[in-house]
Amino acid sequence: MTVRTRPDLETLPGYLPGRTIPGAIKLASNEVSLGPLPSVRGVIAEAAAGINRYPDMGVTALVDRLAAKLSVEPSRLAVGCGSVALCQQLVQAMCEPGDGVMFPWRSFEAYPIVTQIGGARAIKVPLTGAHALDLDAMLAAITDDTRVIYVCTPNNPTGTTLRRAELERFLDAVPRGPLVVLDEAYKEFITDPDVPDGIEVARGRDNVAVLRTFSKAYGLAGLRVGYCYAPEEVAAAMRKVCVPFSVNMIAQAAAIASLDAEDELMERCRVISAERERVRAELLAMGYEVPETQANFVWLPLAERTPAFNAHCLEQKLVVRAFGEEGARVTISTAEENDLFLAAARSFLVG
Ligand SMILES: *Cc1c(COP(=O)(O)O)cnc(C)c1O
Repeated sequence: MTVRTRPDLETLPGYLPGRTIPGAIKLASNEVSLGPLPSVRGVIAEAAAGINRYPDMGVTALVDRLAAKLSVEPSRLAVGCGSVALCQQLVQAMCEPGDGVMFPWRSFEAYPIVTQIGGARAIKVPLTGAHALDLDAMLAAITDDTRVIYVCTPNNPTGTTLRRAELERFLDAVPRGPLVVLDEAYKEFITDPDVPDGIEVARGRDNVAVLRTFSKAYGLAGLRVGYCYAPEEVAAAMRKVCVPFSVNMIAQAAAIASLDAEDELMERCRVISAERERVRAELLAMGYEVPETQANFVWLPLAERTPAFNAHCLEQKLVVRAFGEEGARVTISTAEENDLFLAAARSFLVG
């Protein structure tokens, strides 16, 4: 071979196409299971008619809309091709080769990948025995060259969520240097009033950013759009490293339409959050361990029983997300689909 690719990429997983099971119920990716609202669908069709033109690279209309809704300066917002792209941009914007990027583990699978792609060094901090972020261990692991600290709350895949006092105590203790990134992908499913709004927390601080997405509560996972609220210089740097035009025209229009339909979408979230409590209570009653969760999923830390649980669910045509011999994450769906999952969870214990 006369050309070579980066040797370190060999340690990254290649893409494995997921098994498609005809008629299976998808509880694996934390999407909302109901389709787009008619109003959003209409806007998507309308936007599709204009795709011979490039999208607005500055994403101006959506940024202005978000800035007004959140009462923040537009200059502090960066919009990306899903918040996973923003995670990557954050590493590119903050890190020189070998700088540290800290994240809890297990947490969102993209963190180690974007860290490595960005040439940074991963600092993984294990969760507590209760499957929660170990903030004291994270503080202790900060080094002089730590540039980014991902704080996923609710944590994907365990669902555990930081309360105001512990988050503020952590932020007060973080030394000057790293940017703390609150990943709030599941914010809209939170019902506990002790869980703070990340942007309110970040407002008074110059070292905190917040990631949000239209993929989960807003139901636009297939269109790829998320945003970051960050200190002005960070947001500007994130825009510089963005792949040009990566937030497409249809996504921009659909995001605005979804904000217009927010009341209706948040009502869906309230139903999902109530279902979450019901599903968790039933699983606990069956004897499963289920950490408290404020997201639209539950975590079953089944350890070595995880592969068998996964296989059992697949037999019932339910696709959950299994993580090796750690546990399974199951997305909360409609009451009917949740009942099918609960039946599978019950029969797993018998079988
Ligand atoms: C789903 C998810 C995201 C959102 O990803 P998108 O790229 O916006 O679809 C971000 N962070 C976490 C923790 C997630 O679980």
